[in-house]
Amino acid sequence: REREAFGVRFDPAITLDGHRMEVAANLGNTAHAADAVERGAEAVGLLRTEFVFMAHPQAPDLDTQITEYRQAFDALGHDRALVARTLDVGGDKPLDYWPVPAEDNPFLGLRGIRLALTRPEVLETQIRALLIAAEDRPLRIMFPMVKDVEEFHAGKAIFDRVQAEVNAPDVQLGVMIEIPSCALLAPSLAEHVDFFSIGTNDLTQYTLAIDRGHSRLSAQADGLHPAVLRLIQMTVDAAHAKGRWVGVCGELGSDPQAIGVLMGLGVDELSVSSRQIPLVKQRIRSLTLEESRALALRALACPTAVEVRAMLESLS
Ligand code: PEP
Ligand code: MG
Repeated sequence: REREAFGVRFDPAITLDGHRMEVAANLGNTAHAADAVERGAEAVGLLRTEFVFMAHPQAPDLDTQITEYRQAFDALGHDRALVARTLDVGGDKPLDYWPVPAEDNPFLGLRGIRLALTRPEVLETQIRALLIAAEDRPLRIMFPMVKDVEEFHAGKAIFDRVQAEVNAPDVQLGVMIEIPSCALLAPSLAEHVDFFSIGTNDLTQYTLAIDRGHSRLSAQADGLHPAVLRLIQMTVDAAHAKGRWVGVCGELGSDPQAIGVLMGLGVDELSVSSRQIPLVKQRIRSLTLEESRALALRALACPTAVEVRAMLESLS
């Protein structure tokens, strides 16, 4: 199946009834950007910038970061956007040189944007490096683990300061939707951001109160749970009402059963691991938007994730 799908990797992800989706790559390293393009990526929907920070014994300086990010922009060129997530450590991703006091619940503690805002100079250097490396190429910056507009504005204030100096011409600013509060408040957040990117891994974890890495429970942390789907629906509807776009960059985006449901909910972009890109494109090209909308409505009406999956299975 993978070999067969490879043939469509450079074709657009257009449904049988003419609806186009963007299919992008998730990258954990800028060195992999060229490979993502080779596999048909139309953008990078999530650059996990933690790699630059983990590869060094201390926070990498401006020039080191510029060199790293430039590698991705050079591979993507002017026609493919790069969505860079600012440093997302803490929780399950500790950084040796940035110790966090012991916490009973690290997943509910200092992580993501909360941690980054404790050292704004680090965030500022990172944003400066991204803007300088981008030059006039399309850059999207998003903040991870945002809970409300206050945290977004704290990050945006830093961005505005740097952008006033560097003035990169093609930049959008967004937030990851990973905490239910942000999906619930999406209508007001959408007034302030340029885009949303739904991190279904964390959104599922925080919606269902199941540790995504739990040895016994993680199988139940299913992003197709109707509660998660409702949060996705709220996010997409709020974004589109304000003319903003929405991506999904969590694992759910490459789940064959979920692709039609996400498209039916109105998601504009799926960002998946490079290897999955041809399969995701092939799947989209085999569906219609009309049937996907019907599928999404049926999934939303199910009471459990098990029933969503059974329903999708019975129709495939
Ligand atoms: C997510 O939470 O869905 C996500 C994409 O971020 P990460 O997996 O890096 O936490
Ligand atoms: Mg996450």
